[in-house]
Amino acid sequence: MLRLLLPLALTICCLSAADLSVPILCYHRIREAPIGATTVTPENFRNQLMTLTANGYRIIPLSDLVAWRLGTGAAPAEHSVVITFDDGHASFYDNAKPILDSLHVPVTMFLVTSCISHGTYCVGWDQVASLERDPLVDLESHTVDHPNFSRQQRRLASASYDHYVDGELAQSKSALEAKLSHPVEMLAWPYGIYTPGLLESAAKDGYEIGFSVECRSAKLADPKMAMPRCMVLNTDTGDNLLHLLKLADAEAAKSSTEHKWRLMPRANQVLVSKAAHELLR
Ligand SMILES: [Zn+2]
Repeated sequence: MLRLLLPLALTICCLSAADLSVPILCYHRIREAPIGATTVTPENFRNQLMTLTANGYRIIPLSDLVAWRLGTGAAPAEHSVVITFDDGHASFYDNAKPILDSLHVPVTMFLVTSCISHGTYCVGWDQVASLERDPLVDLESHTVDHPNFSRQQRRLASASYDHYVDGELAQSKSALEAKLSHPVEMLAWPYGIYTPGLLESAAKDGYEIGFSVECRSAKLADPKMAMPRCMVLNTDTGDNLLHLLKLADAEAAKSSTEHKWRLMPRANQVLVSKAAHELLR
């Protein structure tokens, strides 16, 4: 009897590699005083990480998911989740990192290179050097100036635009590689905006994989230069965060033609995310 039941149990318990999906969460600022909807307070950030682990999620390094997507590593365990940060805000170093360290959580930070050591709101190169030595941290590219590529494409002539894109993608990679001790092969698209031409340019400039902001869990079938991520808001605590992950998995289960959030500006995605939470409550 047991032998008859076992294959059924395996079918129920384990997703195939093609069906497996992993939410990649995207954070920006962690601080007490909010600056925009994407600021998460330190208390809520800790709460969100603890909600994940208390509910059986395993926080894995982004590099593990990338190796799976690129065919060089094993599939992550079910209920894996990835934490990423965008922009290189100083609040990551000051407020998020101590919390990540206390819970031993791996993280990838996508840096806007022109912001490093300029102004008080971004990390400095000395902090970047310290983070590079940290085994829990991976540093990758978020372009030079964080441009809105859609706006620049409308503003510039075709040849100038191509040159501009190449500069944003290649120079951020080379600036980071000049200071870091690993090849920078991951790119996060500013505002989550990408086009087929941009994806081609990123591959030409030496990136192996790219990340957007479309709230669905990442699958093997996702385009490798535009892997989806979900922005996390301050209000995504407790059950709200679990609802967000369910929503992300439900989106991943749809066919690619049903994904509606592609190219949507980030501000709109925040509104859509809020609306989706209202529906799920
Ligand atoms: Zn950004």
